[in-house]
Amino acid sequence: MNIHEYQGKSILQAHGVQVQEGFVAETAEQAGLIAEELQKKFGTEIFVIKAQIHAGGRGKGGGVKIARSPMETAEVASRMLGMTLVTPQTGPAGKLVRKVLIAQDVYYKGDSDIREFYLSVLLDRKRSAFVVIYSTEGGMDIEEVAANKPKAIFTEVVDSTCCLHEFQMRTIASNLGLQGKAYREMVRFISGLWNAFVSSDASLMEINPLLKTSDDRVLAVDCKVSLDDNALYRHPELAAMRDLNEEDPTEVEASASNLNYVKLDGDVGCMVNGAGLAMATMDLIQLSGGRPANFLDVGGGASAKTVEAGFRIILKDPNVKAILVNIFGGIVRCDRVAAGIIEAYKTIGDIKVPVIVRLQGTNAIEAKELIDTSGLKVIAASTFTDAAEKVREALA
Ligand code: ADP
Ligand code: MG
Repeated sequence: MNIHEYQGKSILQAHGVQVQEGFVAETAEQAGLIAEELQKKFGTEIFVIKAQIHAGGRGKGGGVKIARSPMETAEVASRMLGMTLVTPQTGPAGKLVRKVLIAQDVYYKGDSDIREFYLSVLLDRKRSAFVVIYSTEGGMDIEEVAANKPKAIFTEVVDSTCCLHEFQMRTIASNLGLQGKAYREMVRFISGLWNAFVSSDASLMEINPLLKTSDDRVLAVDCKVSLDDNALYRHPELAAMRDLNEEDPTEVEASASNLNYVKLDGDVGCMVNGAGLAMATMDLIQLSGGRPANFLDVGGGASAKTVEAGFRIILKDPNVKAILVNIFGGIVRCDRVAAGIIEAYKTIGDIKVPVIVRLQGTNAIEAKELIDTSGLKVIAASTFTDAAEKVREALA
């Protein structure tokens, strides 16, 4: 699960990691009040207004702006709220801005000895280890640095004790070219960030830019955080940070019905039980000349209701030209799935695309009988190759 910058920063702060002061606003009026508050409490003179969307590159897309008074802050916020922000990461459709973060400007006036770094902690699946990736070339596209100046990117691998050692933190601070107070602040920053990462079961915490100010403070100016979905049950307060507005609506609907659904951009919808069989089915679709429109695992205990929910979700996608149902009845009984398909046909009504059904395993014979006598236009397939052939015919 991804969260917003302002939420990520609250996790960091709870672990003593320095970030600039700031608060989130949903209206221009709130934005103005926050700016007044920052002015009173911290003497802030320049305010930064930052669009809160689940995508990076906001700076480039006009989602990060400066204001010099609370009134101007409110004006800028009123323009930013409700706009569709397009950044290199949102795709051409962009994302609607519903919240803005009002923060202190941390690039003080006349600041010459200021440095922007990149630093992220993440799970490296290839290495089966956590790693800290960091660079002196922060603030801009890290992908660009990786492509053009790979030597400017360093990696510190966390060993099997799953503990980032103090000597590693010192190595990082030293490789970033820091001395004295800034060096100590950096070690403290990394130690806090590592604690925040571990205790929130995160899979990514990316700080870009990580700023060293002219008075040698070290703070997170931006932060992108991804949390491990499988561990969210341990953190109800983090699970509550989920913002459904930022997620694909069909995927949200599917997860509400306990379906594992991932939208893809092909033309053959598929409904399968079990992730392994679902992967094999997607290969099968590809082999038959189609392209999978989705991944959908209805799980081991598929009921008539789940099958119906699955059909509804697949049919929402206008690209779908055929649907392949591939069920192996192990725990689930095929006749129950067949009843679900028939039920779905009746309640959804007009299903125009051809539906190819392969039901194998427990009660497969009863299932076939149910489908054959239902009078519905369902194409029954017996083997994998047979199913592939019938998908090919349906697409022709
Ligand atoms: P994104 O990565 O989505 O573009 P960032 O939070 O990194 O968004 O902001 C982009 C740039 O905006 C930063 O590199 C920095 O130069 C500037 N910026 C962001 N927040 C602040 C802030 N609080 N004070 C001053 N400048 C900021
Ligand atoms: Mg950034």
